[in-house]
Amino acid sequence: MTVTRAEIRGGLRTLGLRADDRVIVHSSLSSLGWVEGGAETVVDALLDVVGTDGTVMVPTFTTGDDDRPFDPDETPSVTGRITEELRTRDEAVRSGHPTHSVAVVGADAKSLTEDHEPTNSLGPGSPMHRLIEADGSILLLGVGHTSNSSVHVAERLADLPYRDQTRAAAVVSDGGESQTVTTNAVHCSYGFDAVEVVARRDGLLTEGVIGDADVQLMDGQALLEELVDVLEAVPNLLLCADPGCDRCAYARKRLAEEELIELRDD
Ligand SMILES: [Zn+2]
Repeated sequence: MTVTRAEIRGGLRTLGLRADDRVIVHSSLSSLGWVEGGAETVVDALLDVVGTDGTVMVPTFTTGDDDRPFDPDETPSVTGRITEELRTRDEAVRSGHPTHSVAVVGADAKSLTEDHEPTNSLGPGSPMHRLIEADGSILLLGVGHTSNSSVHVAERLADLPYRDQTRAAAVVSDGGESQTVTTNAVHCSYGFDAVEVVARRDGLLTEGVIGDADVQLMDGQALLEELVDVLEAVPNLLLCADPGCDRCAYARKRLAEEELIELRDD
C-alpha cells in the first residue's frame, strides 16, 4: 500500500489530533507500509496537523557507549527514521541528555528541552513529563506500548524502588574530548503491553489505522494518573515475563525488599 502525506494527515485528524496540540510521537516508519517520500512525509504530515502553534516531540535516544560519545548536534537517534528526520530539521531543538534526549519542533521547543539533567532521563520534570503536564498527548504510530517511554515517567511518579540504578554514559565535552557522566538507568519496557490493557479498560485510548499501521492516541495526564494509581495496587505490573531478564529480576528483588510484593521460592 502506498501512503501519502494527505492520507497520514487525514488519519491523524480522524484519530483526534488537532491544530495547536502538543504531542509525543513514538513511531515505526516501516509499519505504515510504503510511504511516498518516507520519513520526511510523516514529519510533514504531523506538523501540518498541529500547525505552527502546536508542538511535536520525539525520542532521540542514544546508546551513551564509549565508542559513540553523545554530541547533541551530531549523534543520530536510535529510535527510528521518523525521529531522526525531525531531529535534523532546522527548527528542531534537542535536549542534552546523553542517553534519553528528545527533539522538539514547535512553539515550546526551547522550554521543553532545556536543562535535561543526566540523572533525570525519564522522570518528573523531564521533557516528556513537561509536555504531558502542558496537556500533551501521546501518539503511538505503528508501535505498541513497549515503545511508550512516558510510562517510565509513571514508574518514577509512583516512586517504584527499582528505578534507583545508575549507569555511566559517554558525552562529548565542550573541548571535544570524551568524558563520562552518571545517568539514571531506565528500566526494562518489555512488559509495557500491560499498559494497553489498562488504557483500553479505562477508555483512555483512541485507536485507528493509518496505512498498514495500527495507531493510538491518548491524553498523557490521564494515562499517567491512571498508571500511578494502578501501580500503587500492582507494583510489579510493568515487569516483563522473560525469566532471563536481569533488570526485571532486580526489580522484583527491590519490590520484595520494600515489602511491596512477596517473592515465591519456586
Ligand atoms: Zn524485563
